[in-house]
Amino acid sequence: MKQIFNFSAGPAVLPKPVLERAQAEMLDWHGSGMSVMEMSHRGKEFTSILEKTEADFRQLLRIPANYKVLFLQGGAIAENAMIPLNLLNGKTADYVVTGAWSKRSVEDARAYGNIHVAADAEQTGFTTVPDFASWQLTPDAAYVHYCTNETINGVEFLQVPETHGVPIVADMSSHILSRPIDVSKYGVIYGGAQKNIGPAGLCLVIVREDLLAQASPLTPAVFHWKTQADNQSMINTPPTYSIYIAGLVFEWLLAQGGVEAMEQINIAKANLLYDYLDQTDFYYNPIQPAYRSRMNIPFRLRDETLNDAFLKAADLHGLLQLKGHRTVGGMRASIYNAMPIEGVQALVAFMQTFEK
Ligand SMILES: *Cc1c(COP(=O)(O)O)cnc(C)c1O
Repeated sequence: MKQIFNFSAGPAVLPKPVLERAQAEMLDWHGSGMSVMEMSHRGKEFTSILEKTEADFRQLLRIPANYKVLFLQGGAIAENAMIPLNLLNGKTADYVVTGAWSKRSVEDARAYGNIHVAADAEQTGFTTVPDFASWQLTPDAAYVHYCTNETINGVEFLQVPETHGVPIVADMSSHILSRPIDVSKYGVIYGGAQKNIGPAGLCLVIVREDLLAQASPLTPAVFHWKTQADNQSMINTPPTYSIYIAGLVFEWLLAQGGVEAMEQINIAKANLLYDYLDQTDFYYNPIQPAYRSRMNIPFRLRDETLNDAFLKAADLHGLLQLKGHRTVGGMRASIYNAMPIEGVQALVAFMQTFEK
């Protein structure tokens, strides 16, 4: 098999040892004679997989005991609707718009009640995060929603704003597990798995227990957080194989030294690419340095007529899926946990050669 590096934004690269282990266990999981895909979700084998997956996830993020972890389907987009259904309860919710995904969250939430945009960076072309002090927060809002890493625009913020007791709901789809976080500062954290966790089909929701009592009666059972929390995410059949692979990724992360170790590697990887982008006139990254994403790095060629040639040559060098999102154009390198630093080194070396 030829060596490639996959820079896809999602579904995205997985750690090779995880794929090899899944391959080895494909036909016969731990002597059961069954593939994980063939197991009853209520049987003892899969129950043990789910329990270990949740325990490892809790350990990685040090999730406090008063938070539930839900294994849902429908991706982050389904949660865009389920967040207001589960939390709004007749109140107003504040939304902060810092890129394409948080903008989409506002559009999806509007059907369910009073949605107030507290800050919006669209006029900057989504190249920055509005100062926390400028956010027009509603004092008794049901929650404040934002996206901590805008996968399409490449904007990330790591600080947690002061919301004076109003629960924070954060879409962390594309950088969850890339660094330590203080879960206790949030009401809800959610993310689709196919960026930095595992295969598509699984959406993880971490929710503080006291927020489980206010869902609209219109909330579908499969998306009703309290119902799912009371039933170990098994009110219906959960995405069993995706959960199993996510569990293998969690084991791999723990073996790497957890999210603390991953953060150091992720900083080194991102610096490598940004440092190069900042010292060449051939390429550039438009994001204000304080808010540059460590995970998704959009960049452009000053001479856009070379875009196709760049992508073709990158492909030939085994550097795959570098094309930017269709709404943004240019290039984007997604360098999630599973991207080794060798991949970023190879990308920078190729970019230097192409520039010459
Ligand atoms: C990919 C992504 C989504 C959408 O996820 P789906 O699984 O397609 O629903 C939402 N938010 C962010 C930040 C994303 O990166």
